[in-house]
Amino acid sequence: MARILITSGPTRQAIDPVRYLTNASSGRMGVALTEAALALGHEVIVVSGPVEVDYPTAARVVPVVSTREMMEAAREAFEQCDGLIGAAAPCDYEPRSVSPGKIAKTGQPLLLELIETPDIVATLAADKGSRWVVGFALETDDPHLRALAKLQKKRCDLIALNGIEAMNSADNRIELIDAGGNVVAALSGPKSVVATGILHVIQERLIG
Ligand code: C5P
Repeated sequence: MARILITSGPTRQAIDPVRYLTNASSGRMGVALTEAALALGHEVIVVSGPVEVDYPTAARVVPVVSTREMMEAAREAFEQCDGLIGAAAPCDYEPRSVSPGKIAKTGQPLLLELIETPDIVATLAADKGSRWVVGFALETDDPHLRALAKLQKKRCDLIALNGIEAMNSADNRIELIDAGGNVVAALSGPKSVVATGILHVIQERLIG
């Protein structure tokens, strides 16, 4: 039995009190991974951005809003975990400053200055020690090469490469790539089937 941390869903970055930047992640892959991990008898902590889906009640869910909040909650939870599955789609950018009042329209273009947010998977993996880390990569060009580069940069043990059709969809198609660049599994179908396949590979190769 392992204790697994799963990051899931999108994050939101406020622009002003009523507007924010986000992305099209639904959290469905996080739900499917949580169900698959629980079905194998593992304990699951989910750190999730705002989603409309429900996580299984057997998982501990830590709700967050922004990428920085997700980072802090994930960092704390990872201390008690054996591995991390980074299934969230955190916002990669945040406004350099958040307007305290609602930004009024002026008839002119609005320029927002955006700065990069921290990378949660890369930050946690940098101090992973004997723990394992599985990341996701959504690539449109040179997918295998880019996914492998991402695996190396983020110090993942495995990376799940999926296409753009994965966003906000009930189905997914992924290839799981190991640190040697080998495709160790190709899985497609409903996210529940794909998630079960991913968890079986994690079980065999990383949990043992
Ligand atoms: O770099 P990219 O966003 O394509 O990488 C995807 C992987 O990195 C996913 O596992 C995602 O959860 C993770 N990620 C993260 N923190 C970010 C951006 C991405 O953990 N700020």
